[in-house]
Amino acid sequence: MSNHEDTPLFRQRHTLAHVLAEAVQRVQQWDVEVAIWPAIDNGLYYDFLFSEEKQIWEDDLKKVQDQMVKIVKENQELIRIDVSAEDSDYFVNQLMKQKYKDEMRREFLADGESISFYVNTIAEAAKDRVLEWIDENYIKYYGGITKYLQEKFPDKFAGKFATFLDMCEWPHVENTKEIDPKAFQIDKLAWAYWRGNSNNVMMTRIYVWAFEDKEHLKAYAEEVEEAKRRDHRKLWKDLSIFMSHDLVGKGMPLWLPNGAVIRKQLENYIYEKERNMGYMHVYTPCVGTVDLYKTSGHWDHYQENMFPSMKVDEEEFVLRPMNCPHHMLIYANDLRSYRDLPIRIWEFATDFRYEASGVVKWLERVRCMCQNDAHLFVRPDQIWEEFKKVVTLILDVYKDFGLTNYKFRLSLRDPADKEKYFDDDQMWNEAENKLREVLNEFGCPYTEAIWEAAFYGPKLDVEVKPAVGPEVTLSTCQLDFLLPRRFKLEYTDKDGEKKTPVVIHRAIFGTFDRFTAFLLEETKWVFPFWLAPEQVKILPVADPFIDYANKVCEDLRKENIRVSVDTSADSLNKKIRNAELMKVPYILIVGEKEVNSNGVSVRVFKTKEQYEQSETEFIKAAVEKRDTRAL
Ligand SMILES: [Zn+2]
Ligand SMILES: [Zn+2]
Repeated sequence: MSNHEDTPLFRQRHTLAHVLAEAVQRVQQWDVEVAIWPAIDNGLYYDFLFSEEKQIWEDDLKKVQDQMVKIVKENQELIRIDVSAEDSDYFVNQLMKQKYKDEMRREFLADGESISFYVNTIAEAAKDRVLEWIDENYIKYYGGITKYLQEKFPDKFAGKFATFLDMCEWPHVENTKEIDPKAFQIDKLAWAYWRGNSNNVMMTRIYVWAFEDKEHLKAYAEEVEEAKRRDHRKLWKDLSIFMSHDLVGKGMPLWLPNGAVIRKQLENYIYEKERNMGYMHVYTPCVGTVDLYKTSGHWDHYQENMFPSMKVDEEEFVLRPMNCPHHMLIYANDLRSYRDLPIRIWEFATDFRYEASGVVKWLERVRCMCQNDAHLFVRPDQIWEEFKKVVTLILDVYKDFGLTNYKFRLSLRDPADKEKYFDDDQMWNEAENKLREVLNEFGCPYTEAIWEAAFYGPKLDVEVKPAVGPEVTLSTCQLDFLLPRRFKLEYTDKDGEKKTPVVIHRAIFGTFDRFTAFLLEETKWVFPFWLAPEQVKILPVADPFIDYANKVCEDLRKENIRVSVDTSADSLNKKIRNAELMKVPYILIVGEKEVNSNGVSVRVFKTKEQYEQSETEFIKAAVEKRDTRAL
């Protein structure tokens, strides 16, 4: 216990270790075994051994955190007492009844060190109020300790009630009011062997981040998140998914070969789904003239998000920030009757947005993206049917990808803000109420956000929670009564009159970039078979079996399975490792036995299963897995 440093932060951290143990005793188990409790670079940890029925889990950490905050706010006074070797025996074994502390105590004494204790205290008079709701066993236990301390050290403990007692020699704060209750947070729960020795008992370790103040804590939390992001970026590059390069420009992701395979699969998937729902696929250019965006209103309302324009001969172009105007013109290209509607025009649309260079973030905030975008032109009486179809599609797609952690957000206008929003009270009220009705009908939980609507109508967003960072908006669906008017869109109604359609803007994946990045993290980089860039890797155990490996490879390719043979001179173990690093779902090992039986030895990456199969059986199973897009 000799090498201690003495800084205010160290004192706070060590004190918080005691506070953590006190909190654990109050909310989980008053007679928990306590072990080591060091201050570390980013805070502290404490090791505990719980009884089986009182084991603490992640879900309990919130309660512990809240109790720590409460304890700090109780302005507890920490009182140090130095005791003789004999008394220390009594303290640890009779008062505390802590056998791991005793083991440490004996070692300190053997090393010729003195023993001291720190006692956390509150005013005895305030005991009943402060400890209301706290387990009575805890209060009884510390009542006994208090009584002993008051008799033995009357000067120090008169009028005080002990709420925690620990053997410790390091410096601490004098009063917990010196600690900012917003400057610490429980980081995680982990497991550790007593003394790091796997022959010993396994303890529960709780890590806490602790800093001078809440700004330092926040900065640290952001650093940790950024480090995780960097790791992910490295993985994206190593797995050949995305890269970026200064020569191409900030916020301009490049899709690498494996990423491109994934994107193509996603495109095929959504293409099939949307085509079956009557969507008509189009391609349009990534630029438009400034006049196009003046007509749509973007030039006036959205220009700060657009790249500067460029002049080519007599025309002034701008990189498009969105493709709605192009689709409006495609609608207007034909005469439309009420019978033709809804008309659903969609595109894999590359768009450019000018984001200030300070906020451009690799893949999270980009300047070039590809949207899975569509515009649905409907009659007013078709809005709700069509809107429901969009919500159904969103739910359907999330189910196919196994996404369950998402929520809907309904963005409404601020009725008081007549400037920002297209002014038509009846339209807004009706639209907003209808949106709520649809969501209720689906039983989708949602939140409402006032004044986050687009200027032309209310919208529905779906937010998902990724492994790292804040929630991201994937899907979006917006009602628009304005753009069709600005482009003078029409259809001939039943009565022969020209009427204006309503437009629904919607994107299911959001952008392919963001969806792919999200999916990689969501699946922890283990892609479902149908999406895996390389689905099968064949490893001949030695050169004489390369021919057979190539034959199996050809047979699989005939079924459009993405497969290759590792013909390198590497050992079989190295080949397996390489394939596993690339997270290939199926590894097929072929040698003499497989050649003779027309079979393959299968290793499944995800489940680590190994089994033998005939070649035909394997191909049949792989094709089925691909075609059903099993997760
Ligand atoms: Zn301490
Ligand atoms: Zn649009």
